[in-house]
Amino acid sequence: MDPNATHFVNFQALLIGSKRKFDERWKQPFVERGKLEDFKLIQTLGTGSFGRVMLVKAKKDDSPFALKMLEKAHVVKTKQVKHTISEIRTMDSFDFPFLIKLEYFFKDNVYLCLVMPFVNGGEMFSHLRQQKRFSEELTRFYAAQVILAFEYIHFLGIIYRDLKPENILIDCIGYLKITDYGFCKKVDDQRTYTLCGTPEYLAPEIILSQGYNKSVDWWALGVLIFEMAAGYPPFYARDPMKIYEKIVSGKYIPANHFSKSLKDIIQNFLQVDRTKRYGLLKDGTKDVKSHVFFKGFEWDSVLQKKLKPPFIPSVQGSGDAFNFDFYEETPIKTSSKVLFAKEFDKIEL
Ligand code: AMP
Repeated sequence: MDPNATHFVNFQALLIGSKRKFDERWKQPFVERGKLEDFKLIQTLGTGSFGRVMLVKAKKDDSPFALKMLEKAHVVKTKQVKHTISEIRTMDSFDFPFLIKLEYFFKDNVYLCLVMPFVNGGEMFSHLRQQKRFSEELTRFYAAQVILAFEYIHFLGIIYRDLKPENILIDCIGYLKITDYGFCKKVDDQRTYTLCGTPEYLAPEIILSQGYNKSVDWWALGVLIFEMAAGYPPFYARDPMKIYEKIVSGKYIPANHFSKSLKDIIQNFLQVDRTKRYGLLKDGTKDVKSHVFFKGFEWDSVLQKKLKPPFIPSVQGSGDAFNFDFYEETPIKTSSKVLFAKEFDKIEL
């Protein structure tokens, strides 16, 4: 029997139920929960212009979490208030196995604090650099989870816009969690024009200011599949302008070792002409999931995390940061008064 005979029907029902729950949560007034004093700060896991992400442990039971600390001053200075509030609300409303979820949110005088489950297997980025490239089996296993996550996100009327190996974490059993919703946008069926994302992963329509919707995520998935299987991205140059020229031309060279079906699925995503791009054709994601690259793949098993992952990161304990890079610790900023109280008075869109 076809292992996916019931998948399409069941998954559609799941999406409909998920959208109802998401819409309810999205509309509800946002309730802050927790405070910085509830946690012991252990070490930095990642940094960015926004601030940092730290491994923390709850004082009450030592359970580990990842704490993203966004400096309010920086958010205001870079005019990211709306984006940031949208990131918080999105993380609070998502509920899907391969997407990171918000556990707690609170503000202190200096920072906005987002507390998420700690995903201790590390970034896909580090594992890809270590392993040089992933096998096609592992590439397929990861691509499938991104596809399911994109189906969920898009069904809610949201586009993700920042797919790349740095934003994909691997949990201790080998499954993915996509993180960083800073560029997520609820667009429903509207077009948007903002230029955002990472140069190597930008779709041609973003570069050409053509107005876009979920098409950009399917393009980025083509880039990701290529990078996972090759170890380098399809469009690359030192100068971002040269990267953009290559992207717009749509010309890239598949690695010699790519199988025929892998080459074919990548080519179907990396279509400059959106009317020909996989994910957007009349059968939507059915085309993707029924492609020969996924022949015999059990979509429900991966959704239920029953498929044995081809790679399991080595971790010692649930609060072990062994898979993360080492960062020089810098002091947490403090202030005697609440900074930017007005801007972040309400976490409402
Ligand atoms: P972000 O700005 O959300 O992309 O986070 C920056 C970096 O912090 C990521 O690339 C990860 O290395 C790390 N990080 C973010 N969220 C988590 C998490 N929930 N668990 C473990 N590490 C995380």
